[in-house]
Amino acid sequence: EGSTLTAFAKELEMEVRDLEQVLANLGESLASSEDAVPTDVMELVGLELNVDIAVTPDLNADVKELVRRRGVVAVMGHVDHGKTTLLDSLRKTSVAAGEAGGITQHIGAFVVELPGGNGSLTFLDTPGHAAFSAMRQRGASATDVAVLVVAADDGVMPQTREAAAHIQAAGVPMVVALTKIDRENADPQRVKGEIVSMGIELEEFGGKVQCVPVSAIAGEGLRELEECLVLEAESLELMTSLTGKVDGVVLEAKLDKGQGPVATGLLKAGTLKVGSHVVVGNQYGRVRSLRNGAGDSLTHIGPAEPFELVGLKGVPSAGDSITMVHSESRAKRICEARAEREAALKSASAEPAPSQSEVNPEERGHLNVIVKADVQGTAEAVRDALLGLSTDAVGLKVVFMGVGAITESDLNLSAAIGAPVLGFNVREPPNSIAKMAKQKGVRIVRHRVIYHLLDEVGEMLTGLAPMEE
Ligand code: GDP
Repeated sequence: EGSTLTAFAKELEMEVRDLEQVLANLGESLASSEDAVPTDVMELVGLELNVDIAVTPDLNADVKELVRRRGVVAVMGHVDHGKTTLLDSLRKTSVAAGEAGGITQHIGAFVVELPGGNGSLTFLDTPGHAAFSAMRQRGASATDVAVLVVAADDGVMPQTREAAAHIQAAGVPMVVALTKIDRENADPQRVKGEIVSMGIELEEFGGKVQCVPVSAIAGEGLRELEECLVLEAESLELMTSLTGKVDGVVLEAKLDKGQGPVATGLLKAGTLKVGSHVVVGNQYGRVRSLRNGAGDSLTHIGPAEPFELVGLKGVPSAGDSITMVHSESRAKRICEARAEREAALKSASAEPAPSQSEVNPEERGHLNVIVKADVQGTAEAVRDALLGLSTDAVGLKVVFMGVGAITESDLNLSAAIGAPVLGFNVREPPNSIAKMAKQKGVRIVRHRVIYHLLDEVGEMLTGLAPMEE
């Protein structure tokens, strides 16, 4: 778990003894610098130093531990095109529904087992892309494969395009479900033509995207759709570790009168156990009970198995990440640090904008920025995303875009034109650069999650915040 203290210090471009000091301040210590830093402690350090640390479990660490996991599927498409009906029909083929009485609890997702051991799927139970994009904004996409629902009697509509754009932006493979195929006025050929015109390359026309005609009402095409989805998921070779770091996402959460905060979710990796300490977004707690969709009480839960969790001290939000930590005190500190960081971000953005007389009228309503990213493709994507933040009131201009670490020449340019330096997926600059930035009054903003960067720049645009922090 995690990396050694030496490696972590290197990643942070810090001296080992400085990092040891940071750890000591957090009440943590390691016997030797070759000891692994637990991932939850890495996160604490990140919060303390105000850097985003990509704490991803090293799935290659122990190949023996890796197991295949089933794919998670989201259903999206235009309103009234049959998403809910399709999910209802699919749910009837689910494991829980097959059990006594077929009573299923709504826990945000359900599992379908194909007959004959031909694979299984987890379907997210809330149709529409609102939940899907909420999760992506938190960098916690739970979806492996998406179903784009298009009604055969209606065709491509505005929300069909929107859903398709979301799916493509997430880089998630898609299967088209041509619904309401039983309707008299269904015109599958015309609708397929519209789908192709949207830039979706259907298999029938030489592309890679499968299109399955279904009638949720007549129960036709459901098995074919499931088989298609299993194949898509299999081709992704989704692997996970049952013993590594717990990594999951909240699907839904609420306050229950009897049980207190209740969250439903899915894990991408690891095994969550009753009795363990968890941090869920800004909330923490000890897992008091876990249930599956059939309402069974479980002692532990693995990846892609939807569950309901009781035991948190507060109600988290959909899309929040779920991690397991070693102790309650650590869980509490991570939450406190997260809350502090959020408060700091809020108060920074709430600082009064300079009064009109202080702002050079030339500068008003305009923000220049410098973009640095790890690779050219990313830099371009970041630039495009940033340009999308421009409004009539405030324009944004990317005056320089480059690849690699933030350098002295970036700072010089930045100081000369009063543009913040936006680093995406770039290393923390060494102390010398950080000092120089301070001297020159240059603002450096670094993130590893695009939405965090966009949020911060969005706040700058809103207030046209001064350059100095
Ligand atoms: P959503 O808004 O996309 O979730 O759409 P719904 O699932 O609520 O479906 C909208 C309407 O289409 C409802 O009246 C459904 O009964 C009807 N519908 C959905 N699927 C089918 C289908 O396969 N065949 C027929 N004939 N009607 C369907």
